[in-house]
Amino acid sequence: MQSNAGFMKALKCRECGREYPLAATHVCEFDFGPLEVAYDYALIKKSLTRAAIESRPQTMWRYRELLPVADEPTVGRQVGFTPLVKADRLAKALGIRELWIKNDAVNYPTLSFKDRVVSVALSRARELGFTTVACASTGNLANSVAANAGSAGLKAYVFIPADLEQGKILNSLIYGAQVIGIKGHYDEVNRLCAEIAGKYGWAFVNVNMRPYYAEGSKSMGFEIMEQLGWRVPQHTVVPMASGSLLTKIHKAYQEMSKLGLVSESQWHMHGAQATGCNPISHAQKAGLDFFKPVKPNTIAKSLAIGTPADGFYSLKVMKESHGYAEDVTDDEIREGIKLLAENEGIFAETAGGVTVGVAKKLIASGKIPAKDSAVLCITGNGLKTLDAVTGHCGQPREIKPSLREFETLLAAEKQLVNA
Ligand SMILES: *Cc1c(COP(=O)(O)O)cnc(C)c1O
Ligand SMILES: [Zn+2]
Repeated sequence: MQSNAGFMKALKCRECGREYPLAATHVCEFDFGPLEVAYDYALIKKSLTRAAIESRPQTMWRYRELLPVADEPTVGRQVGFTPLVKADRLAKALGIRELWIKNDAVNYPTLSFKDRVVSVALSRARELGFTTVACASTGNLANSVAANAGSAGLKAYVFIPADLEQGKILNSLIYGAQVIGIKGHYDEVNRLCAEIAGKYGWAFVNVNMRPYYAEGSKSMGFEIMEQLGWRVPQHTVVPMASGSLLTKIHKAYQEMSKLGLVSESQWHMHGAQATGCNPISHAQKAGLDFFKPVKPNTIAKSLAIGTPADGFYSLKVMKESHGYAEDVTDDEIREGIKLLAENEGIFAETAGGVTVGVAKKLIASGKIPAKDSAVLCITGNGLKTLDAVTGHCGQPREIKPSLREFETLLAAEKQLVNA
C-alpha cells in the first residue's frame, strides 16, 4: 500500500482551532485545550472506498487513511476486526428487538480494545524516533503497551495503581516491561505520569502521544459499520473510563458519513459507568455539561477514573446524539457478566458487565426503545478479572468416579427442580 503521508494534516486544538505540527504533543499552548489529529478528507475520499477497504486484510489497518501514521504501521499490524455477534438470546433477555455484541474481549494480542489505541500510538512513536514507551493505566492499557512494545523491541515503563487485579498485573509482567505499581488511585498515577513525561524523553501513549493514541479507538466504530453492512447502528452502548472511546466511535460514524461510505442517519451514543465511579453518568443524568471528580470505589477497576480526561467531550457527544448515560452497582456488574456469558457464551471482564447492565437499564426505562436495534461494545476479557466473580458463580459438585454417585446427584437435582 502507498504511504499515508498527507492524509493527516496537523494537530488541532479542540477549543481554539490553532494548528500544531504532527509531533509528540497534546495540549494547546494558549488555552490548554486538547489537541486532535486533523485530516485532509478530500484527499482521503479519493482512495478510501468500500471496495478498497474490503480488498484489504481483516485488521483495523484496513481504514489506515483515517488512522494517524505516516507510513506502514510497524506495531500491532494484526490488531482488530473482532467479531460482531448477533445476540438474539441476550436481546430476548433484555427485551429489545435486535442486539449486536462487538466483541473486543478477543482482540489480538492482549484481549481488550486497548490493542487498537496502542498499535497506533506505538507505530507513530517509532515514526517520531522514540525507543522508550510508557503509559498510565487502569490495567488493560499496561498489558497492551507491555506486549506490543515487547514484540517491537521497544523499552516499556507501565504505571498502574498498585491494587489492580492479579490477572492484569501478571499480564504486564510476563512481557518483560518495567511495571511500576503506584500506591494511589489512577488519577494520582496519571498526575505522576504527566510529571515524568515532561522530564524524560519517552513516548507516553496516553499523555504526549494522546492525540494519536485516541484515534485508534475509531477503528472499533469503523468495523461496526462495515460489519453491519455499511450502516450506522441506531444505538451504541459504550463503557466510559476517560470517555475517549465513546467520543471516538462517534467520530468514526461522523467520518464515514462525511466520506459517503455509509448513508446519513440518526444515531445515539450511550455511556456506561459503574456507580462506584460515575462522574460522567452522574453529570449526564443531572443534565450538567461538566462533571465533578469522584474517588473511585468499584470492582470495575478498568473504568475507575475519577477525573476523566474526555468527560466533558463525552457529555457533549451524548447530548448531541440524544443519548443517555447510566451506571450500575457491583452486583449489577456481576449480573451483567453472567447474562452475557449464559446467553451468548462470551466471558467479559467487569467493564463488559457494566455495559450489559447499563443496556438493560436503558432498555427497561425506554431510553433505548424496545423496537430498535443496538450494539454493545464489549471491551475486555473476563479471564483477566477472575477476582471479581470468584465466589459468585457457585461451585463444581464433586463425586467419586462412580455411575451410582452421578445418578444420585442427577436425582437430587431433579427433586430440586420439581420442588
Ligand atoms: C480503557 C477501557 C475502557 C474505556 O476507555 P476510555 O478511557 O473511556 O477510552 C473501556 N473498557 C475497558 C475494558 C478498558 O480497559
Ligand atoms: Zn487552543
